Amino acid sequence: MAESEKFTCLIVGAGPAGLSAGLVLARAGVEVAILERGEYPGSKNVMGGILFTTILGKLLPEFWKEAPVERHITHRRFSLLSRDGEVGFDFKTSAFDEPPFNHTWSVLRAKFDRWYAEQVEAAGAMLIPGMMVSELILDGGKVVGVKTEPGGEELRCDVVISAEGANSFLAEQVGLRPVHDPKHMAVAVKEVIGLPQKVIEDRFQLNDNQGSAWEIFGQAVKGTFGSGFVYTNKDSLSIGVGATIHDMNRHHLNPNDVLEQFKKHPSIQPLIRGGESLEYAAHMIPEGGFAHLPRMVTDGLMLTGDAAGLVNASHYHEGSNLAMASGVLAAETVIEAKNRNDFSAAALASYPRKLEESFVIKDLRKFQKVSAFFNENPHILRDYPDVMTDLLKDYFTISEKPKAQVEREVIAKFRSEIGVINLVKDLFKMGRALR
Ligand code: FAD
Repeated sequence: MAESEKFTCLIVGAGPAGLSAGLVLARAGVEVAILERGEYPGSKNVMGGILFTTILGKLLPEFWKEAPVERHITHRRFSLLSRDGEVGFDFKTSAFDEPPFNHTWSVLRAKFDRWYAEQVEAAGAMLIPGMMVSELILDGGKVVGVKTEPGGEELRCDVVISAEGANSFLAEQVGLRPVHDPKHMAVAVKEVIGLPQKVIEDRFQLNDNQGSAWEIFGQAVKGTFGSGFVYTNKDSLSIGVGATIHDMNRHHLNPNDVLEQFKKHPSIQPLIRGGESLEYAAHMIPEGGFAHLPRMVTDGLMLTGDAAGLVNASHYHEGSNLAMASGVLAAETVIEAKNRNDFSAAALASYPRKLEESFVIKDLRKFQKVSAFFNENPHILRDYPDVMTDLLKDYFTISEKPKAQVEREVIAKFRSEIGVINLVKDLFKMGRALR
């Protein structure tokens, strides 16, 4: 590649955001290159992962016929773990067995991203793996290219799309975003555990290619505001835990230890028994939500996906589809800017407006109070799981005690440990935070 070569658009990062942007630009005939620090796209990715595919399905209709997806998710499960028990909500429907499979798939990102990148290259984008962007090149305050490593090569362009994920230091370099606050950045660790396909289907009550996504709160992460997860792949499970760096530090927790203890919990251990550890990784997740979004554009630069903090950290746990949607909207903005030959911040300002009008910002706005609510009410995830399992244990304990007496005792215990007024207050506040 000649040093003087100039692209219309350089995309930093070949994850869901960068690849989606690259696909839209390549199809529109825009000269675009995607720079990926990993040996291949996906090699550095550790998403849990449930891939939400409303956007992918529009870009590549019926992608599931070709793409290396694992299972379509028919079974959603949410649990509160106590120290030795679990209270849960389980939902299953065969309606999700039909195309488009509720746009919800388990994936292994190392396989999926690589395949997605091949589709983007086939559409005409240039993919440059093994190249890390070390800084933006500025000219009079305007972004005009990037410096790369190894080699210190300079690549010039009209506009850069930052799709570099949670550690978006390019956004910091130009002051679009302050250095991350540990209260708004989660650290997550994930392991992939291999098990025979039949064993997974029996343990999780799945038919054929059905899959299960299980989000687990409470003692999964030592009662902090975070969660654990278990997702079924074809012949492996993705299992992990994550909580804010602030909470991990405050409670002197080491994420690896939290995962090890999670795996030993009586609700989890039987599901992973006999499995072989295939992969282990740690990564950040930006969880500041709506209240802590950065400025999305400056002259010659746009932020997408995790680099823009676009993660819905409510119980929905969505990041992949927000990343893809933002990549598409950023690409559409580049196409408009190219037609006007104006890549200034004013010209790119239609990108945040498009985000505002899409589900991306609407969802982040809806759940903006969730993290503040759980931070201000730590007892809910810390104490309620233990109290609830204790009460249910008493209620279901078989003895010769008359049932009316059991009920009276359980109600009395509930009144002394939580109290009707406290429960109503907590439910009311939680309802307001989730509204
Ligand atoms: P990324 O997927 O992080 O991709 C960024 C890419 O940029 C990477 O390939 C990286 O190697 C590359 N890169 C970084 N810096 C540079 C640089 N300087 N130069 C060149 N390349 C660079 N979301 C869901 O929807 N469902 C889930 O189940 C889910 N589970 C998760 C579990 C874990 C443990 C974690 C950590 C996250 C999870 N998420 C989940 C969130 C999801 O992974 C992200 O929201 C999504 O991957 C964001 O996509 P992205 O393209 O913005 O960034």
